Amino acid sequence: MRYHTFLIKYGEIGIKGKNRYLFEDALVRQVRFALKDVEGEFEVHKSQARIYVDCGEDYDYEDVIGNLKRVFGIVGICPVVRMEDRGFEQLKKDVVAYMDEAYPDKHLTFKVESRRARKSYPKNSMEINCDLGEAILDAFPETRVDVHHPDVMLNVEIRNEIYVYSQIIPGAGGMPVGTNGKAMLLLSGGIDSPVAGYMISKRGVGIEATYFHAPPYTSERAKQKVVDLARIVSRYAGPIRLHVVNFTDIQLYIYDQCPHDELTIIMRRYMMRIAEYFAKKDGCLGLITGESIGQVASQTMQSLAATNDVCTVPVYRPVIGYDKQEIVNIAEKIGTYETSIQPYEDCCTIFVAKHPVTKPSVEVIRRSEEKLKEKIDELFDRAVDTAEIIEVK
Ligand code: ATP
Ligand code: MG
Repeated sequence: MRYHTFLIKYGEIGIKGKNRYLFEDALVRQVRFALKDVEGEFEVHKSQARIYVDCGEDYDYEDVIGNLKRVFGIVGICPVVRMEDRGFEQLKKDVVAYMDEAYPDKHLTFKVESRRARKSYPKNSMEINCDLGEAILDAFPETRVDVHHPDVMLNVEIRNEIYVYSQIIPGAGGMPVGTNGKAMLLLSGGIDSPVAGYMISKRGVGIEATYFHAPPYTSERAKQKVVDLARIVSRYAGPIRLHVVNFTDIQLYIYDQCPHDELTIIMRRYMMRIAEYFAKKDGCLGLITGESIGQVASQTMQSLAATNDVCTVPVYRPVIGYDKQEIVNIAEKIGTYETSIQPYEDCCTIFVAKHPVTKPSVEVIRRSEEKLKEKIDELFDRAVDTAEIIEVK
């Protein structure tokens, strides 16, 4: 079947009044972004509280559906056949032909649901429903009408042309990115943080990211892996501004000055501080991490409290209550898993203590950090000033 248009359905809860325009405009923008690399011509427009994607002659159906399924805010995607209005008798024939092609097995129940956007049409909705239903029953005696729970809901919209559709392909749900501000994701090369970014952006939040590496202890490949992960997340979240921070000197300095069992916590506090610095600079309203309670020593409740202690913006931890396997399931679904498990050293895994503290006291950690007084400001400034910025699209 050749489809000429895709009707985009979106949830309408909470988008009354002025919010509706923001929501729809953001959705149109995200749909355009999602289709920009798909071959073919697409025109995305809104009309009467609906969004349509009109397609040119040649396009790849699977690519379009695959990309639209990643756009947050879309509840369902309906492939539409557009028919010229050549009178009701012709419409009956066209609708019968549609049913014949779309449903090779005719043992099904159906209901016709028509809508008139063009009120001057010579029949009202009731009449259209009955007459088209009858035409289908006549053509395919195996079919039956079921107005309560039909297998096939055949939608017929009378516009300038006539739109016929019966399939709803489930969308990603959530809110269009850009309707809920921006947040800064601490993106490592692991499994959890890309999932965390995905989950927050699903609620309409645009994403920036910060990655800490420690050359020459971590490799160029490790950095490339993070850029690759950012690219996969950006297929859902839209363009991501990735800050790559050289963390080596700060890590070495902490290693020299502080107790080794506190190294990870102190290091993570500096990650938060630097990420927050970029967040504030770029108008991000919070930080996002892939932390999950108890996953490792640095994610016990005490460790999380000690890390959180330095943050002055909200920290969102969407996978906080998830088991690893639950996070892995999402990573597989969104396509980050295979990249995340590539075995490159992360800066968190170098210089780690054999027995890190699992119940750090905030007071003790603050006192240990005083040993960094002499040089840390200078190192901090250098780390943020020399950060490389990569626009990931
Ligand atoms: P991930 O959590 O992404 O799977 P991980 O489990 O190795 O990686 P942890 O050491 O558990 O990461 O760190 C917890 C969180 O801290 C990460 O989810 C991420 O948000 C942040 N983080 C850790 N290392 C880095 C890094 N090198 N750059 C940026 N953020 C990081
Ligand atoms: Mg983790």
